[in-house]
Amino acid sequence: MDFKFSEDQEMLRKAAREFASDVLAPRAEEIEANDELPRELIEEMAARDFLAVTIPEAYGGLGLGHTARLIIIEEIARVSAAAAMMLQVFGLGIEPIVVFGTEEQKQRYLPPLATGEKLATIAVTEATGGSDPSGIETVAQKDGSDFTLNGRKVFITNAKVSDIVVVLAKMADDEKTFNTFIAEKTMEGCRPGRTEKKMGLRGSDTGEIIFNNCRIPQENLLGEPGAGLKVALSAIGDVGRAGMTGVALGLLQASLEAAVKFANQRVLGGRPISKLQSVQFKIAEMYADLEASRLLGYRAAAMKDRGERCDVEFAIAKYFSCEAAVRVAKHACDIHGAYGYMEEYPVQRYLRDALISIPSAGTSDIMKVIMGKTALKKFAD
Ligand SMILES: Cc1cc2nc3c(=O)[nH]c(=O)nc-3n(C[C@H](O)[C@H](O)[C@H](O)COP(=O)(O)OP(=O)(O)OC[C@H]3O[C@@H](n4cnc5c(N)ncnc54)[C@H](O)[C@@H]3O)c2cc1C
Repeated sequence: MDFKFSEDQEMLRKAAREFASDVLAPRAEEIEANDELPRELIEEMAARDFLAVTIPEAYGGLGLGHTARLIIIEEIARVSAAAAMMLQVFGLGIEPIVVFGTEEQKQRYLPPLATGEKLATIAVTEATGGSDPSGIETVAQKDGSDFTLNGRKVFITNAKVSDIVVVLAKMADDEKTFNTFIAEKTMEGCRPGRTEKKMGLRGSDTGEIIFNNCRIPQENLLGEPGAGLKVALSAIGDVGRAGMTGVALGLLQASLEAAVKFANQRVLGGRPISKLQSVQFKIAEMYADLEASRLLGYRAAAMKDRGERCDVEFAIAKYFSCEAAVRVAKHACDIHGAYGYMEEYPVQRYLRDALISIPSAGTSDIMKVIMGKTALKKFAD
């Protein structure tokens, strides 16, 4: 087993870290205050090919795979989890096209996504179907050779900014049959609805996407007819949980760095609080959580890049790292004393961002369902 990143991966990390510290960091508080990620920052990420990373070279991408994507998301989340979230769900919108798209769909949709000319998202969740997507009520009615979609998707990242929406619907004439479609915001009857005000990940665009008699041509059916759940959920299962692990890794690193800095600077009774064992023990736990999360995340990403099955490994990584991000951000706040809960210090933002990372791409309970089922089978004898 080789735990070293390749030279190319280290270079990519350096490029992402430079972008995060030079371009993103000076604007992180502005993103938070305005609850908006400025479009020019997305364009800057596109110019650095961060959006193209998993798109195959044949369609204008870098074809670098999921370890590379995780590196970029981690580095960006270290400075702005909201900006990382935009990339995370953008990746979720393109994955089903890369894996299940027809040649024509790939040629049409992937090149403008690779350059950032267009942005993507995935719209699965509804008020009646989150953890259980089969509970959704968006229906697709066959209309000659085309389809007409009606329904309301909720909690969708990139709801306003996306141009291309991979959407899950059930068939009007058979509630047990699901299909996934590629919708475009330029199609009549496809529009963003309410934008949510969130406790964390401010600046990440979260809201509704409404389908009102939206006509989708037959050629925009994604994957085999009736394979909708598989198409949508396989993207969320691996790529979605990888991305949320990346968001958590960035928050873990940022929380630990902020805690160490504060502990060395804050002097009580003539000594920095970093000399206190209670503070050292918290820092030690934070360090262990960061390292364990990183190993779990990059192990799963390496398996994905080797083409191995890794859904359980991503469930473990997502569960552990997102829960760890909450623990570690809370420790960081505590080490800061009262300052930790003041807007002047970023650690309160890390805690709010970490908390909201838990339901995204599947709650911790759903990860436990997956892990529990696997362990009960795997260790039965
Ligand atoms: C910031 C953010 C961004 C998001 N972005 C997107 C997006 O881009 N696209 C998209 O489609 N969705 C998105 N989501 C939605 C997300 O996928 C759902 O929130 C998630 O699947 C949980 O669904 P729910 O919120 O309806 O909770 P529910 O499913 O209603 O769950 C409520 C509670 O019940 C528990 N629970 C439910 N079922 C089980 C079970 N079988 N066993 C044990 N416990 C269970 C859950 O763990 C939770 O505690 C986003 C969510 C957030 C917070």
